Amino acid sequence: MRKKLVAGNWKMHGSVVENKALLDALVAALGQADAAACIVCAPFPYLAQVQSVLSGTGLAWGAQNMSQYAKGAYTGEVSAPMLLDFGCSHVIVGHSERRALYGEDDAAVAAKFAAALAAGLTPILCVGETLDERQAGVTETVIGRQLDAVLAVSGIGGMGRAVVAYEPVWAIGTGKTASPEQAQAVHAFIRDRLAVLDKAVAAALVIQYGGSVKAANAAELFSQPDIDGGLIGGASLVADEFIAICRAAQ
Ligand code: 13P
Repeated sequence: MRKKLVAGNWKMHGSVVENKALLDALVAALGQADAAACIVCAPFPYLAQVQSVLSGTGLAWGAQNMSQYAKGAYTGEVSAPMLLDFGCSHVIVGHSERRALYGEDDAAVAAKFAAALAAGLTPILCVGETLDERQAGVTETVIGRQLDAVLAVSGIGGMGRAVVAYEPVWAIGTGKTASPEQAQAVHAFIRDRLAVLDKAVAAALVIQYGGSVKAANAAELFSQPDIDGGLIGGASLVADEFIAICRAAQ
């Protein structure tokens, strides 16, 4: 039986003062929750603060991106070992904003995924189609390509140590959530595609849905058979919303 997982992706939001209020509220409401059922992915400069507030609680934390390299002359980059230094357990790789705004192609995402695994971090691999791609009927082709790039480097065994997040690009930050049926169809496609390679890995894989998840729609989305929780953007910045979403997954 898969355990549902909710991760908050703060994106480029927060301040020391705002984070403290949000994290304190999360700990008060969820600190006793099942270990790692709820994760916070914060901007790099705040990982030390997140670590200091969440250590010893049932909440885990991670980063939103990382370098594919362990160290070297890569100005401005942050490596997996650095994330481990701050107690991260998870790291988002291949978020559509990284792909679209920072030129991360499938090969770069696959390299980051492999580097995360090699360091002992759990990658949360984001996949998803744009509106144009959905309207052109190539959703499965796009997601298949995104998965295949990672499988080519890390194999199905790598997928066995990861989380996948299906985030339709047209649903991110737009208020347009995929319907539970639309999301379920893609989640089932992802699981079926991986099951061809390894049934046990596919059955155990946590596949999150992301894109305008809020307290009001979380329970219905999470009740779908192949939706194992969510990757939450805007609503993860609002304590009451995020707490309700995490509870909907328990
Ligand atoms: P929103 O929840 O703000 O739509 O963002 C989703 C997302 O991109 C999470 O990674």
